[in-house]
Amino acid sequence: MKYISTRGTAPELTFEEAMLTGLARDGGLYVPAEWPTLSHDQIAGFAGKSYEDVAFEVMKPFIGDTFTDAEFKEIIAKAYAVFGHKARCPIVQLGSNDFLLELFHGPTLAFKDVAMQLIGQMFEVALKRKGETVTIVGATSGDTGSAAMEAFKGLEAVNLFIMYPHGRVSEVQRRQMTTPSEANVHALAVDGDFDTCQALLKDMFNDFDFRDGVKLAGVNSINWARVLAQVVYYFTSAVSLGAPHRKVSFTVPTGNFGDVFAGYVAKRMGLPIDRLVIATNQNDILHRTLQTGDHTKTGVKPSISPSMDIQVSSNFERLIFDLYDREGPAVAQLMDELKNAGTFTLSQGAMKRLRDEFDSGRCSEDETSAAIAEFHKTTGEVLCPHTAVGAKVAMEQNRNISVPMITLATAHPAKFPAAVEEACGIHPALPARMADLFERDERITRVAGDLDAVEAIIRERIGQ
Ligand SMILES: *Cc1c(COP(=O)(O)O)cnc(C)c1O
Repeated sequence: MKYISTRGTAPELTFEEAMLTGLARDGGLYVPAEWPTLSHDQIAGFAGKSYEDVAFEVMKPFIGDTFTDAEFKEIIAKAYAVFGHKARCPIVQLGSNDFLLELFHGPTLAFKDVAMQLIGQMFEVALKRKGETVTIVGATSGDTGSAAMEAFKGLEAVNLFIMYPHGRVSEVQRRQMTTPSEANVHALAVDGDFDTCQALLKDMFNDFDFRDGVKLAGVNSINWARVLAQVVYYFTSAVSLGAPHRKVSFTVPTGNFGDVFAGYVAKRMGLPIDRLVIATNQNDILHRTLQTGDHTKTGVKPSISPSMDIQVSSNFERLIFDLYDREGPAVAQLMDELKNAGTFTLSQGAMKRLRDEFDSGRCSEDETSAAIAEFHKTTGEVLCPHTAVGAKVAMEQNRNISVPMITLATAHPAKFPAAVEEACGIHPALPARMADLFERDERITRVAGDLDAVEAIIRERIGQ
């Protein structure tokens, strides 16, 4: 399998190269040159198999010869052994034909662990074989950073730097990033918001001197391997509810468009998904795009679902590439317009395709709190604010109720205790394995939201 850039001019890469590179040199994102498909029988055969076995079969067509079968099986086994639930990503029933897909049983209690644990193991094997060391820099609105810290801490071939917006992540999120004591992981508190961090990361990748000097690699949600890892749970959950013999729908709390794009990939691979619903909080650029065709930035408004406080949904570019018949120059032009004017308008053809695949909904701050209280009262489930956004939007869909609706539960409520307690009066407790989080020592480096400042710190820490 070859990987091509959404902007059409960067060199084709193998899976290994795309995984280690992250952003393409033409500013685009890597995507597979074509979508592999699984047959009806193959998908039906997933019934009753372990998460790990399904993961192997779903991801295998994408990895080419980067790993042998034995290596890849071991990578998957190690990645998910740390999860606190045997099913890894179990589903629970929320209503008559409504389900929650619990993606928060990993070490940092959010769905980012599903991909990051796998990536950590993949980097380890690939880099050890090459005898190389890389510098991974990530930008996080909270959950990616801690997941990366947990996945990469203590590895020999990787130095990890995580930039998070100072003062804009929850205390649990911050502590999960600042308390690991391993010398190869570093948390950088950047002055600015998540988009500042994300822009710094992009600029770092476009500074080829720095990029080559520190052997820069990325594990943000733009990294193809992360999207790929997330495709798996669409298959396991759908099959457990009767796919491929019946259709299922998904509602996905969305920020950077990585998770919901993974659902789109599952559909392209042959999983019979009826509707894919994009759920946004008050930062609703994607919902507005679905409604009007205008993709217009308006600035980030901090919310109680901070991991979705995003105005530039990086992975949306991967979808646009398909909406425009995989024409790199057309994508490059739209992205230039977004960068320069803060807006672009989708063509009519692209809009039609977008609406054929996706629905959307928005959930305000008040509605999010009300949804947490309501779901607690009616179902006994305590939802995190992100999950509540999804569950609320799912409820409002005008849908075929004979098709199961699976809402992705993207974080454990204990990761956002203040918002949850305020909404429903319950203080969600941390699982026993991280109960001492608030007693551990923190290591924080505060840095200006400025490319030179951040690059200088990284060079200094890795001894350049
Ligand atoms: C990252 C995150 C999201 C958004 O996922 P995207 O892939 O960025 O769309 C939603 N909820 C939680 C808890 C997250 O950590």
